[in-house]
Amino acid sequence: MDKIHTNDIEFDQQHIWHPYTSMTKPLPAYKVTRAEGVTITLETGEQLIDGMASWWSVVHGYNHPEINQAMHAQIDAVSHVMFGGLTHQPAIDLCRRLIAMTPDGLDKVFIADSGSVAVEVAIKMALQYWHSKGKPEKSKLMTVHGGYHGDTFAAMSVCDPVNGMHQLFQGFMAKSVFAPKPKQGFDQPWDEQDSIVLEQLFATHHQQIAAFIIEPIVQGAGGMRFYHPQYLKQCRLLCDKYDVLLIADEIATGFGRTGKLFACEHANVSPDILCLGKALTGGYLTLAATLCTKEIADTISQGEAGVFMHGPTFMGNPLACSAANASLALLSAGDWQHQVASIESTLQALYTLSDHPDVADVRVLGAIGVVEMKRPVDTASIQAHFVKMGVWIRPFGKLVYIMPPYVISQDELLTLIQAIKQVIEFSDIWAE
Ligand SMILES: *Cc1c(COP(=O)(O)O)cnc(C)c1O
Repeated sequence: MDKIHTNDIEFDQQHIWHPYTSMTKPLPAYKVTRAEGVTITLETGEQLIDGMASWWSVVHGYNHPEINQAMHAQIDAVSHVMFGGLTHQPAIDLCRRLIAMTPDGLDKVFIADSGSVAVEVAIKMALQYWHSKGKPEKSKLMTVHGGYHGDTFAAMSVCDPVNGMHQLFQGFMAKSVFAPKPKQGFDQPWDEQDSIVLEQLFATHHQQIAAFIIEPIVQGAGGMRFYHPQYLKQCRLLCDKYDVLLIADEIATGFGRTGKLFACEHANVSPDILCLGKALTGGYLTLAATLCTKEIADTISQGEAGVFMHGPTFMGNPLACSAANASLALLSAGDWQHQVASIESTLQALYTLSDHPDVADVRVLGAIGVVEMKRPVDTASIQAHFVKMGVWIRPFGKLVYIMPPYVISQDELLTLIQAIKQVIEFSDIWAE
């Protein structure tokens, strides 16, 4: 048994790419055999309390009886059919739900395969829209530094140029216009300076800009920063004033994570185009969606192509839609509101780290807790400490952060917080 295990891990290291991983010096990957609720079980027998919700997605916990049941039922009926010329109940139910729950005005839904694809679709919608309007020169994107929108090329072109190492791809990739990171934090007093700089960029570039894309309130993988809701309001105002579409990328923030069902609600803003993903299926399968207004859909449909130019093979996959429907039904029961509120209040305990000499900043919003260190940590060694302590937390760069499944108990959450407090006392956790 032990030999098989060793061989599997070696095979994995030698032959399988993991996210953002070297093939010559891969970090060790832990082999999972089960996951249930908030507990991930490793082949070696350790049980880990999950602090990551598998990258924002597993909001109701693993192996959820109702999502399992919905998927079993769907498997026995139909797992997949092409979406060209055919439709089905899971897709219809899903789109009904999404239109009803998202901010006003978004009533056309494109079901995509992953978050990055949903962003590609949003960008293509914006470009086709302006082309149809007889303004093909509006063909660039504008965004802010510090963002993350996915790993495909158009999505990469609006990710932070430094984090995203744009220089590696520069001959191939579209050039976007970048505004500075929003400076004011979520709770800080509002300062007009942020929007003055933004307006100057709109004024200079708007004739070439098809859309402004931004993650509402929380910049996720680009640095886990929470910015002021007034900034998002200004984005909406400037997009209207300068005839630019607003794309809200709620792939990470959607479905309750920030304390509102959608982070746009913190600023009372409706975008023209909305991207959803990650938690959409409760973390069961890859699925995403791009919603837009009737005006955008109608304009595209009256353009030269007469159709929207996108249609993936697995579009609207019934099994993924059925998982999403079960997950959204759980959300609409409403428990998430007090779950996220109670996580947010327990996470306040992280603030005792604010005075720690190695800690640069602590921030909490909804079910997200972030400890930003003064220097980058070594992911492999810090992760090994966490596993020994019975928790699954995977830091990146200077950020040690948690965003647990909403169903985590207070004791489990306190264990995660305690583990973070302990781990930053170790001397071998720093990257060289
Ligand atoms: C994760 C993420 C994406 C990309 O989604 P994938 O499913 O990984 O392609 C895009 N935008 C944001 C804000 C994300 O957090």
